[in-house]
Amino acid sequence: MKENIDPKMHTAEHILNQAMVRMFKTNRCFSAHIEKKKSKCDYRFDRFLEAEEILELEKKVNEIISANLPVMFEMLPVAEARKLFNSRTPEGEADVRIVKIGDYDAIPCIGAHVKSTKEVGKFKIISSDYNSGVLRIRYKL
Ligand SMILES: [Zn+2]
Repeated sequence: MKENIDPKMHTAEHILNQAMVRMFKTNRCFSAHIEKKKSKCDYRFDRFLEAEEILELEKKVNEIISANLPVMFEMLPVAEARKLFNSRTPEGEADVRIVKIGDYDAIPCIGAHVKSTKEVGKFKIISSDYNSGVLRIRYKL
């Protein structure tokens, strides 16, 4: 993650990823473009999302934002983090920072985040499209 990333947009990415994992059994996005005005996340998936699924997804993300969950950090030894999150963790570091959003989401991350989810504002999906195994979701706040 780049350091100059917008904390609100980036925190929204965490929430969106967890919502995708829970609702559509995807992995977290494999690629993301996070910018202040609008952002996009790409997921490996097997179809496009119906309009009502987009609304459901948007509703879920806004629910988490409104719940004003605290964003917390925890340091974990690399080996433990790998086991728990089987995710890319930086090589050659003793500890990895885990970012937790209430008890909704937890993932190793070094990016900048808001302190609690309400700061993110209102989450709006601008569009989504599907192309050869990649579901792209564009959103703004
Ligand atoms: Zn992050």
